Amino acid sequence: MNTIVVRILLILVSALPVLVSAQPATWDNHSRRMELSRFVDYRAESSERATLESVRGLPDDQWQRNGKDSVSLGYGDEVYWFRVGIENHLDASDPLFLEIGYPVLDHVEVYLVRDGALIEQYILGDKKPFHERLIHNRNFLVPLSLPADGNLTLYLRVDTSSSMQVPLTLWNQEAYYVAEQSRSLFEGIYYGIVLVMILYNLFVYMAVGERSFLYYVGYITAMPLFLASLHGVSFQYLWPEATRWNDQAIIVFLNLVVLFGGAFSIRFINVSRHNHPIMNRLAVSLMIVAGVMAAAGILIPYRLMILPTILVAFLGCTAMLLMSIMRWIRKDPAARYYTLAWVFMLFGGIVLALSKFTMLPRNLLTENATQVGSAIGVILLSVALADRLNKEKKRAFEAQQNLFREERKARMAQEKSLRIQQEANTLLEQRVQARTRDLESLNDQLRELSSTDALTGLKNRGHFDRAFSSAVVRAYRFGQPLSLLLLDIDHFKRFNDTYGHLVGDDCLQMVANCIRQYVTRPQDLAARYGGEEFVVLLPDTPAEGALRVAEKIRREIEETGFRISDEVLHLTVSIGVCAVCPDEADATTAIFSRADEALYEAKGRGRNQVVACEPPEVQDAEPVTT
Ligand code: GH3
Ligand code: MG
Ligand code: MG
Repeated sequence: MNTIVVRILLILVSALPVLVSAQPATWDNHSRRMELSRFVDYRAESSERATLESVRGLPDDQWQRNGKDSVSLGYGDEVYWFRVGIENHLDASDPLFLEIGYPVLDHVEVYLVRDGALIEQYILGDKKPFHERLIHNRNFLVPLSLPADGNLTLYLRVDTSSSMQVPLTLWNQEAYYVAEQSRSLFEGIYYGIVLVMILYNLFVYMAVGERSFLYYVGYITAMPLFLASLHGVSFQYLWPEATRWNDQAIIVFLNLVVLFGGAFSIRFINVSRHNHPIMNRLAVSLMIVAGVMAAAGILIPYRLMILPTILVAFLGCTAMLLMSIMRWIRKDPAARYYTLAWVFMLFGGIVLALSKFTMLPRNLLTENATQVGSAIGVILLSVALADRLNKEKKRAFEAQQNLFREERKARMAQEKSLRIQQEANTLLEQRVQARTRDLESLNDQLRELSSTDALTGLKNRGHFDRAFSSAVVRAYRFGQPLSLLLLDIDHFKRFNDTYGHLVGDDCLQMVANCIRQYVTRPQDLAARYGGEEFVVLLPDTPAEGALRVAEKIRREIEETGFRISDEVLHLTVSIGVCAVCPDEADATTAIFSRADEALYEAKGRGRNQVVACEPPEVQDAEPVTT
């Protein structure tokens, strides 16, 4: 692309008037190489095909002196004739080369005329397959020998769809080979570097999948192919038979340079639709145009495509440079590398241009400045790309680390809240347990209260009923004896009637106390059955024991005096006792009624006594026959 810039500069500068030299080129014993541009005369061919004879016969005023450092007549349909006279000031003939240093010229006819006679003619141009060339070189080379102290006039007819540039150089053959070796070496280095970069970036792309690398590979593949096509290298080595394609290749590859360069640039220096909408749209439109033109360049003739292509390339270069400067101002670190790479590439072009105008010495470095600049640019961009990838990786890594840290913090906070919740739960549980315990003890108290007789403090009837039935079941199960005492205060109605109910209640408490003194075993139970009747349940106690307890109670009550003002009163009780080994689990009613019967018996016998029920009659078992 830099070559294009150089050529545009050359075209601009060539418009300046330059002093005309009327001298023919002179070759002397100092000459090793000579640019012939200043000594060239030219004229456009009229519509008719001119012959050498007709051209030679033309007067001098029909010719135009070039007089400049380059022969460059721009694009057009005209066919041009060129003429240059060479004088040999050596006293020996010197084997020389005439080099036509613009390998994309289509048809070139070279005529060597000495002493008015045509001594040699050659037909050259890239419309002939490469192998037909006289000397296999990417530029057109014509061997010629200057006679000692003689003259030679060269006539060239050039018909080309490319730019009409005819840089003519006369070389001493030996000097040419020396220069050619260095140039080959330099180009080899350039293409080597580019090839390595292409492969390296391709592998990086395959490894990381970042699209910038792919665009970059496209860019650094298209660019050397474009340069190689322009310099005739690809015609020599890649498609030596494809004479038509050789022209088209320049169009295709230059457009591809714009396409891939643009794609790479907007991605690399981040000119997105969001941060630079206008620039982005402009670049994308240019890329689309370049893409379409690259495809069209395969078919549409070179002469129709070349000017729009140069325009697109020029706009592309300007846009990319503008974008990079804009991004640099916006402090994008990638833009610095990018601009630097651009400066190197442009610098190569500028150096070449300056050397062409003899403002810089012509040497290996200045001659190959385009390639040198381009190679440095390519390396710089590749390094920048890798650097950016590295930075992005680092950023991604840091972001991931941050995420880990945040996640850990969140987890720790979660754990803490879980711990607090657990502690709260434990506390709540402890409180609930304490409350449950309180409730249970309250329940116990309530149960105790609900099973206690309020007046006497003995168990009440409800409790007795439950305890009695489970005691009967237990006695039945273990075959143990069980005794039930049923107590009734004698003539209590009369007592009540005489002293009043309140005194009667005090008496009931006294009786209860007397009973309590003799009901001492843990499993024994004394209860108030109702009114002035009491029950005493004695599990695992046979009749004798029960009678003994009953008798003790009876006596205790009888002996305990009860004081009312000055009077000491005595109460008596009658006690019915039932002592059995229950023969069924549900024997409560039977036991109770038998105790009741015994009590009734005691009342009947005169009260204040203990009566045991009769043991049940045992029926003889009949022998069982089988
Ligand atoms: P006996 O048993 O010797 O045949 O004669 P009794 O006078 O004791 O007859 P009964 O057993 O039928 O008497 C029940 C009386 O007990 C009725 C009532 O005056 C008295 N009494 C019942 N419950 C209470 C009570 O809670 N307090 C008081 N002060 N007296 C009660
Ligand atoms: Mg009674
Ligand atoms: Mg009574």
